Amino acid sequence: MFRIGFGNDIHRLVEGKPLILGGIKIESDSGADGHSDADALTHAVTDAILGALALGDIGTHFSDGEERWKNAESFVFLRYAAGLMKEKSFTVVNVDSTIGLENPKLRPYIDAMRESLAVALEIAESCISVKAKTGEGVGAVGERRAVRAEAIVLLRRN
Ligand SMILES: [Zn+2]
Repeated sequence: MFRIGFGNDIHRLVEGKPLILGGIKIESDSGADGHSDADALTHAVTDAILGALALGDIGTHFSDGEERWKNAESFVFLRYAAGLMKEKSFTVVNVDSTIGLENPKLRPYIDAMRESLAVALEIAESCISVKAKTGEGVGAVGERRAVRAEAIVLLRRN
């Protein structure tokens, strides 16, 4: 049996915060604001897995009102979702994702993000796709006010 899931996420960009995407620190003069480490890609992938299992979203499992999740590393959320997936005897077939960020260019970081997500999900890097697009100068992404990520995941029951 197969299940498909979709996730998306957006975080405001502010000065003086780190920019972390897919668990990788991106050299940037502005970073993502949020309760956890604000890793939009990891949040989107986590939501896609939870969505495929029809188990709500990150907010259902990790309330942003809770102090213990402040500055939390988003891979804690991803590994938690992967654990629920395993409990239900599912594995990830593949992940496809797109990050929306005006700058810097993400190409130098793409393979590192794929590798870190692959390690967390215990699948081959070849099963993880990470793409990047600018906002063409318009909207919240184009005006450098936000970073956005979208992810889709296919799960297979073993
Ligand atoms: Zn988020």
